[in-house]
Amino acid sequence: MRVGLYPGTFDPITLGHTDIIRRACALVDRLVIGVAINTGKGPMFTLEERVAMVEEECAKLSAETGTEIVAHPFENLLIDCAHDVGAQIIVRGLRAVTDFEYEYQMVGMNRAMDSSVETVFLMAEAKYQAIASKLVKEIAKLDGDVSKFVTPEVKEKLLKKIG
Ligand code: ADP
Repeated sequence: MRVGLYPGTFDPITLGHTDIIRRACALVDRLVIGVAINTGKGPMFTLEERVAMVEEECAKLSAETGTEIVAHPFENLLIDCAHDVGAQIIVRGLRAVTDFEYEYQMVGMNRAMDSSVETVFLMAEAKYQAIASKLVKEIAKLDGDVSKFVTPEVKEKLLKKIG
């Protein structure tokens, strides 16, 4: 059984993330969405809220793709999380060149710790590539319309959170 781990902050989950999840489902039998607990990014949503949103979106994607998708909060090393969930593959999304340098270092260091876990990079469809959770939050805070970047369910939670 091929198990993939797609880690991130998902603060909140966007249409960029769901596009990557859909693509990853074609590569694995089971996809674990690793929701980072201890993030230096100062998330807007609590871990419970982020996991709930990931689970809600993944239920739809699972029904659509036929692949089992589960959310898994983690705060240890990514490579240890991969071991914990039995993943042989780490999935990451690549947006622009700006993502590359960080990802390049991550792969190098994770590979030094365990060379049997392979990192796979996927690119979202062009219209979703520019989406970043950070910008979605800023747009929502400034009363902008985020309908093109997140699902209606996530949009509602964003608006509620912002008040
Ligand atoms: P991180 O905190 O690691 O950046 P994110 O939640 O921002 O976590 O993203 C998780 C993963 O999803 C990362 O690999 C990131 O590059 C990828 N990702 C986020 N948005 C997009 C997008 N619009 N297109 C492709 N990949 C994306």
